[in-house]
Amino acid sequence: MKKSTIIIAGSGYSGINAYYELKNHYNVILINNNNYFNYYSKNGTEKIYVKNIKNEIIKDIDISHLNVKTDKNNYYCDRLILSLGCDRDNQINFLKNMEKYDNLTLSSENKYDDYILIQYILYLKSRGKNFYYSGDFLSFLGENISDEIRNFMELSGIKYKGKSDNELPECKPNFFGDFLDVNENFIYKKNVFAIGDLIKSDIKLGELSMRQGIYAGKYIKNNNIGFNPIFITSFTNYHGLSMRIKSKMPWNNSYQYANISHYHNLMTKNLGKYYKIRKGKMGFIRYF
Ligand SMILES: Cc1cc2nc3c(=O)[nH]c(=O)nc-3n(C[C@H](O)[C@H](O)[C@H](O)COP(=O)(O)OP(=O)(O)OC[C@H]3O[C@@H](n4cnc5c(N)ncnc54)[C@H](O)[C@@H]3O)c2cc1C
Repeated sequence: MKKSTIIIAGSGYSGINAYYELKNHYNVILINNNNYFNYYSKNGTEKIYVKNIKNEIIKDIDISHLNVKTDKNNYYCDRLILSLGCDRDNQINFLKNMEKYDNLTLSSENKYDDYILIQYILYLKSRGKNFYYSGDFLSFLGENISDEIRNFMELSGIKYKGKSDNELPECKPNFFGDFLDVNENFIYKKNVFAIGDLIKSDIKLGELSMRQGIYAGKYIKNNNIGFNPIFITSFTNYHGLSMRIKSKMPWNNSYQYANISHYHNLMTKNLGKYYKIRKGKMGFIRYF
């Protein structure tokens, strides 16, 4: 029997993980405007090259006809996964630009992006720069976590100031001009899924995007495991100490975990290597 065709539009954190889940079961067409996966970290963007990506620019998507037009081809499919992310160029440029300065106080336009800002201030500190933080220490993740973040930043020599000099801009909707509304199974329209930063959600996080990719893939394979959202990130102060955070508070669950240790530092350092070897596949890391 002929396998049905699934197009995955965008091979970032979310799309690539949907791809690994589906590639052996369907005829999967993975399209991205370059042949690598962008792994963002505090010290810049790392390109993780992946085979089988159709290196094409998506020009138009006709949702109702399941049709994707690129600069090179015109594709039709049975199901479509939209994983085109959000436009983070303004954020990346902002962070690069900050390297020219010293002694500024930084905040985020969108408090949910504070995890990116804190990582970056810690990174700048490790390079001898003295930046101050203005924000609420990710209080949306729970009181224990924000207290521990405050503690970690103090331990790392980063001070808090009330008034900010400059704001990390929030990411902008990409391609569709707005973020997409999905249901609890990431269904946007009949036979069309949307996952990752592209969807309407306060929290835009790579870890979460990967889980959404895996979930959408399993759901399509009729393996509905139920999506269990969690916020997971790590900070490192580049002096051997790291902090790991896990919280389900934004999804009305009281679970929160924060821990500072030398052990997490090893893990944070090796995560980039892990994803490079695994070509972006989250794999067993999702159980930690
Ligand atoms: C500086 C920085 C640090 C970060 N740190 C962390 C962190 O420590 N932990 C964490 O969990 N998250 C982190 N994030 C957030 C994380 O990178 C995003 O949440 C994640 O990339 C979202 O995944 P996605 O699959 O939705 O989108 P993306 O990873 O952005 O993938 C979208 C893909 O679609 C492609 N695309 C877009 N338009 C087109 C088109 N027209 N045609 C073809 N292809 C197209 C893009 O090239 C891209 O490959 C960070 C982000 C930044 C900017």
